[in-house]
Amino acid sequence: MTVHLSSRARNASPSATLAMAAIAKQMKAEGIDVVDFGLGEPDFETPDHIKEAAITAIREGFTRYTAAAGIDELKQAIITKLKRDNGLSYNPAEVIVSCGSKHSLFNVAEALFESGDEIIVPAPYWVTYTEQIRLVDARPVIVPTREEDGFHLTREALESAITPKTKAILLNSPCNPTGAMIPLEQLRTIAALAVERDLLVISDEAYESLTYDGHAHMSIASLDEEVRKRTIVVNTVSKAYAMTGWRIGYAAGPAEIIKAMSTIQSQVTSNPTSIAQKAAVAALLGPHDDLRAMVVEFDRRRKYLIGRLNAIPGITCTNPEGAFYLFPNVSGFYGAAANGHPIRNSAEMAAYLLQTAHVVSVPGSEFGSDAHLRLSYATSMERIRTGAERIERALGALRR
Ligand code: PLP
Repeated sequence: MTVHLSSRARNASPSATLAMAAIAKQMKAEGIDVVDFGLGEPDFETPDHIKEAAITAIREGFTRYTAAAGIDELKQAIITKLKRDNGLSYNPAEVIVSCGSKHSLFNVAEALFESGDEIIVPAPYWVTYTEQIRLVDARPVIVPTREEDGFHLTREALESAITPKTKAILLNSPCNPTGAMIPLEQLRTIAALAVERDLLVISDEAYESLTYDGHAHMSIASLDEEVRKRTIVVNTVSKAYAMTGWRIGYAAGPAEIIKAMSTIQSQVTSNPTSIAQKAAVAALLGPHDDLRAMVVEFDRRRKYLIGRLNAIPGITCTNPEGAFYLFPNVSGFYGAAANGHPIRNSAEMAAYLLQTAHVVSVPGSEFGSDAHLRLSYATSMERIRTGAERIERALGALRR
């Protein structure tokens, strides 16, 4: 039979980061020594006390359906966390637990966006945002930021993107892929514009606890009550507690929106995994020593790799304030050739590094910036050293 896929399915792009991960896996399976800078998840183990909470949940038979929007105990733990870390007050009706924050974000999109709506997405952006917005027939409006400005949004750029169709602004601080964090004055500017123009704010704070050089995360929702009322804070246990596979994310925002998200979720996935919810309670309320140790180690690697990259003539790499990615500008090499084949863009550069240096990176084009590559330092120091040497050698071999 002839299958006619929906236009939604035909137009959706697969996740580029997962695609790179699949290629790396295949190469490794073939026995090739690959240095993987493509990873979007911590290379640390989920802390033991979190695993124990899940094991206890299984032993105690906590293995059935739960309330679709999450168990009360986890909602309370999230409320405690948002108060403790972000100074934000919510009640349980303003909180939903989902199957990862990617799912929380899609619930937001389904509950709020439709054909004709424009959603502002600053670039570089995490690939999923634009795809999810398109999946619900709305339009992402990309607002570029500049490397020279530390990838920070300017008021002029944001203002000029707002039209009568603009429904929301999507923020991600610290940012995947640049690691940039939105400074306080800028958060205030964005908040003021959102209030002035009556826009919703979606604040993806997945990397909030991975910050460096004394930078501390601040949620835009905590600026004042007027902003909090129009903001949906999205967060996850994935990155801070090395729990990517457990699939627990959450959102907090106006009760009316959370209720709509819960209704949609109840018809699509029902509850997030019962056992993982218990583990998330332990993560949010338990000791944070492992997280602190992880940040120290990420910082060590970050500094090392920035130094190595900036020492390569032709590369510039800004100092990211958070997350676990570097976003070096490699466009100085565009036009140079390897074996007579010129490299013209980030996809060709990533392919060149994969083929010749066996180093996995993600092309910046996937994040809305073709001048860059995204390198994740969520891999051991030893692999980072090897990878840096290989990149240096491969780029040194390019000829004009
Ligand atoms: N937000 C950002 C910016 C991310 O980079 C990711 C994952 O890479 C997520 C959200 C989703 O994380 P999860 O669905 O595991 O909570």
